[in-house]
Amino acid sequence: MARKKIVAGNWKMNKTPSEAVALVNELKPLVASEDVDVLFCVPAIDLVPVLEAVKGSNIQVGAENMYFEESGAYTGEISPNMLTDIGVKYVIIGHSERREYFAETDETVNKKVLKAFEHGITPIICCGESLTQREQGITIDWIRQQIKIAFQNVTADQAKTAIIAYEPIWAIGTGKTATSDQAEEVCAAIRECIGEIYDDATKEEIRIQYGGSVNAGNAAELFAKPNIDGGLVGGASLKADFGKIVNYK
Ligand code: PEP
Repeated sequence: MARKKIVAGNWKMNKTPSEAVALVNELKPLVASEDVDVLFCVPAIDLVPVLEAVKGSNIQVGAENMYFEESGAYTGEISPNMLTDIGVKYVIIGHSERREYFAETDETVNKKVLKAFEHGITPIICCGESLTQREQGITIDWIRQQIKIAFQNVTADQAKTAIIAYEPIWAIGTGKTATSDQAEEVCAAIRECIGEIYDDATKEEIRIQYGGSVNAGNAAELFAKPNIDGGLVGGASLKADFGKIVNYK
């Protein structure tokens, strides 16, 4: 089964609501594509204006985070209901910046993934190794562990629709991209791991992105790899370059 590529922008903590609308209007004609799913993951406060601005285009909108409770005394958090109420269908879960600065763990990632599925939101589940772990030769073991915990109690039908973003931490925002062979090796290992947890159908259907300094110059080589189904793009998603990444062929 041919998997459709998905190229997602992660805006991180950038763009005020008015700047966000201006960026959507600039990128809209550049990211038009029938071959690739295009997703903008934007700060919570930008979600409503961005959803409005993308109307009538091929752009889908996702959140960058979500809490795993329904409602209550969790000051500053965003619930799944808040996202679905405004029409958000994707959420990034467990980005390495959230793990590093906001104490997210594999266990909270799993809780968020389960909650997202409960509400019909597709999670983009991030995993990735540090430079030290890569140098120690434990990358694959580390990633397999992250995946196994993230997918605990997730059904095969849910897992088929999930998106995994393999993002080596040393490549995020550093301008240092994993080589296409390095990225493919880990994405293939992730797919194998999904096959072990579930079955061949789930292994074939799940989409696995690469993220880490993807740009207009390296996207084509990365996305040509058999186990890389697109990218999660930070810095380059805020510029016209994003259009070249989407239309990488
Ligand atoms: C990211 O934010 O997920 C990311 C990969 O960032 P960058 O493309 O800037 O490395």
